[in-house]
Amino acid sequence: MLLSQLPENNPMDTPTPQQGLSALTDDAERNRLLAEMAEQSTDMISRHTPDDWRFIYASPAVTHLLGYTLDEIIGMSAYELYHPDDVEDFKRRSPSVSYERGLYTHTYRFRCKDGHYTWLESTSRSIRDPNSGELKEILVVSRDASRRINAEQANRRLARILESSSDLVAFVGLDNRVTDLNEAARRTLGVDNPEQAGLALADLFTPESYQQLKAQAIPTASAAGSWRGEAEMQAPGRAPIPVMLELLAHRSLDDRIEYFSTVARDMSEAKAIEAEKQQYQASIGHATRLITMGEMASGLAHELNQPLTAIVNYVRGIERRIGDSDDPKLTVLHTPLQRISATALRAGEIIRRMMDFSRKSPPQRQAVDLQPVVNDLIEFCTSTATRQNVQVENMISADLAAVVADPIQLEQILLNLLLNGIEACQQIDESTPAQVWVDASEQGTDQVIIRVHDQGTGLPVTDTEQLFEQFFTTKRDGLGMGLAITRSLVEAHGGQLWAENQPQGGAVFCFTLDKAT
Ligand code: ADP
Repeated sequence: MLLSQLPENNPMDTPTPQQGLSALTDDAERNRLLAEMAEQSTDMISRHTPDDWRFIYASPAVTHLLGYTLDEIIGMSAYELYHPDDVEDFKRRSPSVSYERGLYTHTYRFRCKDGHYTWLESTSRSIRDPNSGELKEILVVSRDASRRINAEQANRRLARILESSSDLVAFVGLDNRVTDLNEAARRTLGVDNPEQAGLALADLFTPESYQQLKAQAIPTASAAGSWRGEAEMQAPGRAPIPVMLELLAHRSLDDRIEYFSTVARDMSEAKAIEAEKQQYQASIGHATRLITMGEMASGLAHELNQPLTAIVNYVRGIERRIGDSDDPKLTVLHTPLQRISATALRAGEIIRRMMDFSRKSPPQRQAVDLQPVVNDLIEFCTSTATRQNVQVENMISADLAAVVADPIQLEQILLNLLLNGIEACQQIDESTPAQVWVDASEQGTDQVIIRVHDQGTGLPVTDTEQLFEQFFTTKRDGLGMGLAITRSLVEAHGGQLWAENQPQGGAVFCFTLDKAT
């Protein structure tokens, strides 16, 4: 009850010489000292009437804390200065008010003289008459709580930001145990309470990433405060999550590391976009190369046409000059000359076909007989096939129904399948030639199915759909575009193209086309 012995701010109440020596007892001296301490304290010490909490006394700190002079504050009711919301709190004994061993501690807003509210933390005590128990006054010690409250509010704001961040945040003790996770981390990792779950740092990362953290990130963060780099996190039921990770070491005031935190940004989406971009760029690159190749081929074809025509003309000129001569030295030249001219014409034919291939003419659908088309193509590939010890055969019957197709595109489809078949056989090292053959039959009432068989290596993958993906190739110099283009040509005709392994070895590529009516 020491503080109750503080004076009221009434000069009449302070001890006077008239009170005699008896007033200067030890108690009086103690009161004086206490009063002096109260006068000098930065805490505001005040006494209040019990009913309406009027100020009976306030120490000078009141001016510093609230801006009132002593004269102004004495007689004012504390209720006038409470923030309206806090009055209610106080009355309802809400969590901002605590009661312990006869002392109330209360944090609330109090209006300063200039009208703004400041946070105070007060401890108050009821002073009762020891004999009657009657409540005589309230004694209060108040201190400025603004800094604490502001710091708490700032902390709460930061905690809210951390909690709602989409980055995965974890706090990790020096024993590598995870003590806290923010909402995003809890959701991703499927953990409600990391401490309860006994989660350790090693559980959050893939083994390789954890090794990197141990070897590099933790030592760097311990020495320099932070480490930043790429890592892979792991979560149940998910593929490894690529993240950009910031690892921070948090130190106490005496500079000891207390704990670590990790802030991880999920990069899955960014990585997927990057991969897609690279794939797209690769496609553009390939497509550009194909266009360039197409243009080069058509330029070359154009350039070669003229000298070939000239060869044929020269040969014909020589033949005319030899004429009907009986000179055996000249007559033996007839056959080789005919062969030169036939070969040059054939070369011209090959070139014409190449130009047709690269010409961007709109497709022209018409009824096409398959047998002669396949015959032509086989002749076209004969030299390639022979070089590679492959025999190509046309097994299509002459009375097969015609199909509806653009002749040039149909040739492209068949040629690509034939050349692939020949190439697949070439890898088989056999003394007897391998066979590639084409057959066809009618399917249902309105379709024809065409098959290109080979005795080659068989398909390199079990998921045969992969073969038709752009850029899928198992060849060193392959482009992996042939089957993708072939399929789109077949589909543009309303047909289907697929591949199978043959039971006896080798592959068969089948496609359907509409029957001509
Ligand atoms: P490329 O010939 O440039 O590789 P394609 O799209 O024509 O491109 O073929 C893709 C892949 O399909 C080839 O690399 C090969 O692995 C496989 N393939 C195609 N035809 C056959 C076949 N007849 N037998 C076995 N594998 C084949």
